[in-house]
Amino acid sequence: MPNSSTHAASSAQPNTHVGTSQRIPVVEIAPVSNKIHVREQKGLFQRLRQYSNSCLIAIFFILPFINYQGRQAILFDVTEQQFFFFNLTLWPQDFTLLAWLFMAAAFALFFVTVYWGRVWCGFLCPQTAWTFIYMWIEAKIEGNHHHRAALDKAPWSLSKFRKRLTKHALWIVFALLTGCGFISYFMPARELYIDIFTASSGFWTGAWVWFFALCTYLNAGWMREMMCLHCCPYSRFQAVMFDANTKTVSYDTERGESRGLRKRAEKTELGDCVDCNLCVDVCPTGIDIRNGLQYECINCGACVDACNQTMEKFGYAPNLISFTSENALKGQPQTSVFSLKALGYASALLIMISLIIIDLSQLSHIQLNVIRDRQTLYREVGADRVENSYQLKIRNKTQQAAVYQIAVRSDKTPSLTIVTDTVVQIKPGEQLDYPVTVSGRRSERVGRTSQQTLQFSVTQINSVANLTPVEPENQVAQQSRFFWP
Ligand code: SF4
Ligand code: SF4
Repeated sequence: MPNSSTHAASSAQPNTHVGTSQRIPVVEIAPVSNKIHVREQKGLFQRLRQYSNSCLIAIFFILPFINYQGRQAILFDVTEQQFFFFNLTLWPQDFTLLAWLFMAAAFALFFVTVYWGRVWCGFLCPQTAWTFIYMWIEAKIEGNHHHRAALDKAPWSLSKFRKRLTKHALWIVFALLTGCGFISYFMPARELYIDIFTASSGFWTGAWVWFFALCTYLNAGWMREMMCLHCCPYSRFQAVMFDANTKTVSYDTERGESRGLRKRAEKTELGDCVDCNLCVDVCPTGIDIRNGLQYECINCGACVDACNQTMEKFGYAPNLISFTSENALKGQPQTSVFSLKALGYASALLIMISLIIIDLSQLSHIQLNVIRDRQTLYREVGADRVENSYQLKIRNKTQQAAVYQIAVRSDKTPSLTIVTDTVVQIKPGEQLDYPVTVSGRRSERVGRTSQQTLQFSVTQINSVANLTPVEPENQVAQQSRFFWP
């Protein structure tokens, strides 16, 4: 069967093991130089992949259009240095939360990999999802894999030019939509799409959108499996997470070999593999899974669907190629549901989730920074009082205007009081630089010390007329020093 993808399989060298030592022999594939024309395949896993990829792409484009309380619900506002997530506002100092979040996602991926191998790559990875969209557009314009291979070889004609022009135009439009989709997490989505498609955006906005559009066009249109084979670090180290119970796309060598062509219903001593080559023809990375576990396999399940289709035609049992584990292939029972690796990743994941919960529970909606007046240590006022000056930087980290009460406290000097106004109003997301004067009675100076500790607190209150704290209480405090003569 003519197919340009077969070249990769024929160049396989069974020499490099990337899995566990007992695992199926692993092969390294020689660099692929010719374009792979993947044969279209239908089946259970292809349907699952279509659903998961469609959901992923729909979520990617729709999320920035969701509004919450009159503003974009999810927005990384780079100019204001704020990240809005529904009613949560994160500031640069809160970004440890995002770090825990990314680490939790990584450990969740490792945990899933222990059980289901590279299921992420085949069903949820954006690179795979966008590549399949581009391949779908290509198939719609240029026809099936035979037609595409023939078109590649054909000399330039009006028909070839028209097909290529249409395909690249559609690829570019989808790339531009993707660029807009990505940047709309950083800029108001509704205006962005209109500005880009009416060519009325600012220079830098347009430059970033076109930059991501170019990356999408090159990645999904041209590089495709090359990204998985040569650029993706996950494909290189995922094998260390595998164990004998990991389910991954595998060929049942025992059952399939020795392979050989035959007629349907023909009695033969050969194994169940009829050598139809379909599993190679449908592989987006151009490998032959019959050569064993390979890092190039993205676990998309296309070869499982293709082989099951062949098995059905020949009246054989399904799953000559299937999502299965090394133990299952050997007919051995699963050794343990919770392997040491799985427990390790699960523990790390739980720690990350705990850190996220702790960080979230301690997330303050007020930011306070107290700066002492460095010019004048103190001022003597009358015979009995001493004053110190401070600059309070109070930020309202919420998305609503709020009223705050400022207070000062010192256990050793109860007379310390603020002589300026203690109730302030701050707009959403804004910082107020507020000068404050604190006064103390000279007679309360403790011993011979020239300075003592005091604590400023800022509490959100209901309103200027109602000074009771909001529920649940929202307060921050910071220490400073009070100087005596
Ligand atoms: S070997 Fe099978 S599962 Fe792996 S990438 Fe190729 S078609 Fe997909
Ligand atoms: S699709 Fe199945 S029967 Fe056909 S070559 Fe591959 S493993 Fe053999």
